[in-house]
Amino acid sequence: MEEKQLFGALKEYFGFDSFRPLQKKIIDAVFKGKDNVVIMPTGGGKSICYQLPGILLPNITLVISPLIALMKDQVDGLKVNGIAAAYLNSSQSETEQQQIIADVEKNELKLLYVAPESLQFVDRFLTDGKVSLIAIDEAHCISSWGHDFRPAYTQLGYLKKRFPSTPVIALTATADKATRKDICQQLNIPDAKIHVASFDRKNLSLEVRPGTKRLEQILQFTEGRKNESGIIYCLSRKNTEDVAAKLKANGLKAEAYHAGLSHLERSRIQEDFINDKQQVICATIAFGMGIDKSNIRWVIHYNMPKNLEGYYQEIGRAGRDGLPSETMLFHSYADVIQLQKFAANAKNEAVQMAKLDRMKQYSEALTCRRKILLSYFGELKKEDCGNCDICRNPPQFMDGTLIAQKALSCIYRLKGKEPITVLIDVLRGAQNEGVLGKGYQELKTYGIGKDISWKDWQLYIIQLINLGYVEIAFHLHNHLQLTPMAKDILFNGGKLELAKNLDQKEIQAEQSKTTKTKDNSLFEKLRQLRLGLAQEEGIPAYLIFNDATLKEMEKERPMTDEDFIQINGVGRKKMEDYGYQFIKEIIAFNKEKRFKKKPKKSGNSHKETLQLYTDGLSVEEISVSRKLAPSTIYSHLIKLYEEGEKIDLLQLISKADVDAVRKAKDEIEDPKGLKTYYEYFDEALDYWTIKFALTILEKEEN
Ligand code: ADP
Ligand code: ZN
Repeated sequence: MEEKQLFGALKEYFGFDSFRPLQKKIIDAVFKGKDNVVIMPTGGGKSICYQLPGILLPNITLVISPLIALMKDQVDGLKVNGIAAAYLNSSQSETEQQQIIADVEKNELKLLYVAPESLQFVDRFLTDGKVSLIAIDEAHCISSWGHDFRPAYTQLGYLKKRFPSTPVIALTATADKATRKDICQQLNIPDAKIHVASFDRKNLSLEVRPGTKRLEQILQFTEGRKNESGIIYCLSRKNTEDVAAKLKANGLKAEAYHAGLSHLERSRIQEDFINDKQQVICATIAFGMGIDKSNIRWVIHYNMPKNLEGYYQEIGRAGRDGLPSETMLFHSYADVIQLQKFAANAKNEAVQMAKLDRMKQYSEALTCRRKILLSYFGELKKEDCGNCDICRNPPQFMDGTLIAQKALSCIYRLKGKEPITVLIDVLRGAQNEGVLGKGYQELKTYGIGKDISWKDWQLYIIQLINLGYVEIAFHLHNHLQLTPMAKDILFNGGKLELAKNLDQKEIQAEQSKTTKTKDNSLFEKLRQLRLGLAQEEGIPAYLIFNDATLKEMEKERPMTDEDFIQINGVGRKKMEDYGYQFIKEIIAFNKEKRFKKKPKKSGNSHKETLQLYTDGLSVEEISVSRKLAPSTIYSHLIKLYEEGEKIDLLQLISKADVDAVRKAKDEIEDPKGLKTYYEYFDEALDYWTIKFALTILEKEEN
């Protein structure tokens, strides 16, 4: 497949100017007819890896997907991009199915989504030559090693036997090696090329906060984010309801989602969330699994998850559109104890405990959190990330000997028979039943830690546990006990350092500064427009344009079709369907604000391109060398050509195409931008070909 065609289709159908890491390599391998296994994190951009080849290959691409509920959204998403797609599953009527089969037989569909259960159905009318590509989404479902095993997936191995010359592409976000091997084996693609993308999701900020006054902290957090979608994960049903109620009382559209709700209620909540009718979901169970909503701006863990796999998958639901998104985890000691109890009762106790331990280490980390997280997934980073709370506010250490002595001697006096809450109460001289009832006010250590807040004590004691001076007797009501190491501090003059608690208020103030969006911004106007359109069409708003695309519109303020289609995320069909309304909104906004469009910084970027072009580099080479998208280079070349530089556009398109466009130009009476040409050619010519030809013709005329 030619470069230009590939980039042309990427722009035309998806509106994107460049590929994400690995996408191009994978697509090239598909066109070479190879089998491929793709491992990419959630939001990494797996779909394009089979959708783009699906569009360009001559016959149909079968997409096997386990999530029936998701198929409709996926197909809707393709249709709004002007791609002929359909799905087949058990939810449809016989007539609907017959219609689709008829379309397949006429070769009128590019992509067909099928649930594994419905495969026999397809088998009847497809022959080897008719299937160009087989894509297997969520391929980890085939493996009983994985966390999401689906028995129906185990039958998929027959596909390769049935269609031996059709390439298979299997995709998953599950990284572990056992699953990977299983996928190749069971799908009968032993020689598949395995592509593993980085699991680093740089746009997700990571933060862990002490779990005190969580509700207040959440309210503060959502304060400046009234229009943003978010998920709050809780351990208990009651928590989900409390949090949702509190948010509602504060004017947010929030709802609880848990196993106690009927199936119907759950799907309604999910629908409302997808369609931006509900803003915040407080969920206990796997909410968000199988939804592609790309504009989830934040994820909060009200409670600690039981392992890092779960945690990463859950935060991964934020920011699929690549825009900065926030994640926050509340760390509480009580949660750890609760989870330890769960783990202790589980079948594979040792494994679960070890996983929980890693989760704990992550939450209590004093070094870059992303490094810890990625190392867990086998990815080792040298640099700190700069986008986690530790990187932004590195902990400062202080001499913690005196604090430690107070805590340790208090544990000693309590005879190792009290949990952390009572210990802190005694240190702080509290006068409650737990203290007075047992006469602890008589202890020598009663009230010796008054000067330190409850929250700080909690942090210090957790550090003492992590440093090995104190341990938790899980089987004895979580009492804190001294370890032999404690002697060193208490009796032998040993010293230790503790990380200071940084002032949360300062940190939060700093963070909220960067994220607030104004209600009267152009972005907000465009968002409302998008919502209205989505409701009319009955599809999720993010399928029309994602947030990243709206942000770019806000920044670039395109006011003509030609400028509009330059926006990343605007393909041809979407420009035709929605361009007019969005442009109208932008123009209206500009008038209202008397905003003068800033002249585009032209700089000398295209001159640099010229230099490389004159040196004889191809478009792709220039693009690689300048780290710019090929389409940017194309537009430079056009600009240079118009300015009279020696650029041979005819190297990039054929004479026949120029002639065709010349003929079109003569025949079309009143051309309205590129749109008219697309229609004229019935989509047979891509964006850049038309653009180049028109540029050449214009020059000829002058
Ligand atoms: P995954 O299936 O791996 O979770 P998706 O295929 O749903 O990820 O892609 C995630 C998001 O990234 C989508 O909103 C998609 O439009 C966007 N995306 C994918 N590829 C690109 C690209 N090359 N340029 C810009 N955005 C992209
Ligand atoms: Zn970091």
